[in-house]
Amino acid sequence: MAGTITFVGAGPGAPDLITLRGVEALKRADLVIYAGSLVNEQLLDYAPPAARRVNSAGLDFTAVIAEIKAAYEAGKAVVRLHTGDPAMYGAVAEQYRELDRLGLPYSVVPGVSSVFAAAAALKTEFTMPGLSQSAILTRDAGRTPVPDGEALEKLAACGCTLCIFLSVAGIRQLTQKLLAAGRSPQTPAAVVYRASWPNEIVVRGTVADIAGKVEAAGIKRQSIIIVGEVLERSGELSSLYNKHFAHGYRTADPRDGFHGRCALFALSAQGTCKAVEIAAGLGDEAKVFVPEKHAHLVPCARLETYPEGGFADTYTGAWKRFDALVMVMAAGIVVRHAAKLCRSKLHDPAVVVCDEAGDYAVSLLSGHLGGANRLARAIAGITGGKPVITTATDVRKLMAFDELAARFRYRLLNPKALVRIATAMLDGEALELTMPPALFQNFYADNPEFRYQGASPDGAIQVRHAASDTVLRLEKLRYAVGVGCRRNAPAEEIAAAVDAALETAGLVYDDIDCFASIDLKQDEAGLLEAAKNAGKTVRFFTAAELNRIEVPHPSLAAREKLGVNSVSEAAALLAAGPGAQLVLDKQIHSQATVAIAEVKS
Ligand code: SAH
Repeated sequence: MAGTITFVGAGPGAPDLITLRGVEALKRADLVIYAGSLVNEQLLDYAPPAARRVNSAGLDFTAVIAEIKAAYEAGKAVVRLHTGDPAMYGAVAEQYRELDRLGLPYSVVPGVSSVFAAAAALKTEFTMPGLSQSAILTRDAGRTPVPDGEALEKLAACGCTLCIFLSVAGIRQLTQKLLAAGRSPQTPAAVVYRASWPNEIVVRGTVADIAGKVEAAGIKRQSIIIVGEVLERSGELSSLYNKHFAHGYRTADPRDGFHGRCALFALSAQGTCKAVEIAAGLGDEAKVFVPEKHAHLVPCARLETYPEGGFADTYTGAWKRFDALVMVMAAGIVVRHAAKLCRSKLHDPAVVVCDEAGDYAVSLLSGHLGGANRLARAIAGITGGKPVITTATDVRKLMAFDELAARFRYRLLNPKALVRIATAMLDGEALELTMPPALFQNFYADNPEFRYQGASPDGAIQVRHAASDTVLRLEKLRYAVGVGCRRNAPAEEIAAAVDAALETAGLVYDDIDCFASIDLKQDEAGLLEAAKNAGKTVRFFTAAELNRIEVPHPSLAAREKLGVNSVSEAAALLAAGPGAQLVLDKQIHSQATVAIAEVKS
């Protein structure tokens, strides 16, 4: 029986900076061949006591290959342990080539390179906006020559961050080359000796003085040299965390997104991987349903498995429990199973079908009211694929009234009128619209067939098709925001928690009737200020009133401190009135908790 050959990156030195996969390979090893002084011998403790340990420092290339070959042919597990990551100055390419020639299979496990351990020791980032967006990993010419085009004098001229291996012994000449390349003597420079080892040394300076400092510290080898502005200057704020950038980058209006609970289904291993990728982009709540044999591909927090042959039942169950089903599989399977379950666009969940490559996200059912069109767009945004939307209004760039209802939170009072109105719209017949002016301006003002009749005081919408005397009526849904907060919680933090909750639920402040909390917070300045800034009143309830309400997430802390089971969820439900239901369960922030309930009309 043949053995195994695994090249493993040992990491920079600290024995806990090897990868888990590397450790697993060591645990199974019969023979470990490790390279020289920079592999920490404590790593060998991961290997079984009986495993042979060979230091390759004492062997030439042919001898190393002979050891590997003999062990492999004897059915042994061989680990070839290289410092840092094998791909940087690891002299692995020649070993790979020889093993290929001999027809011996092998695999490679990456490692943490010393260059990244040095960055960690320096607490720096090699790439900072405005300073440098590249790092060059290189070495100065030594016993091993460097190709002409890569001479340090040339590379240094571009001004980016330099990470220099194997060169600290010649640091004085090296700094001369940097100056010759036009780098200023004041350019920050640092040297990290034996990064992550107990005897690590960090020396900081400039191109002008680093050589002297390194010599004074007695450092002659085993160091990474870093040169670049990133070491000193703070740079600009990365646009990743820039508030304005982030806002511009996200869907500008939360109502353009999808906000329900999603169940993703996959059948194949490839499909499972794609489903996991999509779920990660859809948010914490999205669950991934897969056959048991693929369970290992799904993070535990999202995993739902079903037994062999259990797909149909599981799908039927999820149909009732979730707002959306995302099916990563052939459309035929989805259609056949959905056929038995479909009721109407008022009841059915959104169904989106996606191919395992993620090239297409097909909005299959409940495109408007259920939000499948918005969900398909969101999924295509995650996978880099194309949303496939077939609803005629969308194809013609018209805002359908059921889509308007779903996005802007209206209830259809007479959904039966929808078909007549939609047909009239598509046929270009005149419709009389009563709605808030902003909605009319945004979606209908450009088309002369839409005749504006003004707004109704309660925000309700009416669409009248005079030709058939059909009137579609939509009523504005209202919400209450329940807020619990710590004593002296600052207004900004409460406002940020409410902002986040609204965004998660796809709501805006206009949808909100009021804030609600416990009467013990009647004098809570931050809460009152946050509500005032939002233009909302706060309704306060007593502990007795709050305790009469059953909530999904009772809180032990609230019980102990305030004598109630829940503040945010119970207050939201009470303020929203009888029959209200939570549309957003309690969201916990450091200073405040927030929940949102929908008023039942
Ligand atoms: N493959 C290794 C590099 C091997 S070449 C890696 O990815 O890190 C050996 C050179 O790497 C040394 O001369 C030194 O420049 C650098 N090096 C390796 N380990 C180091 C450590 N712990 N601290 C600083 N430099 C180190």
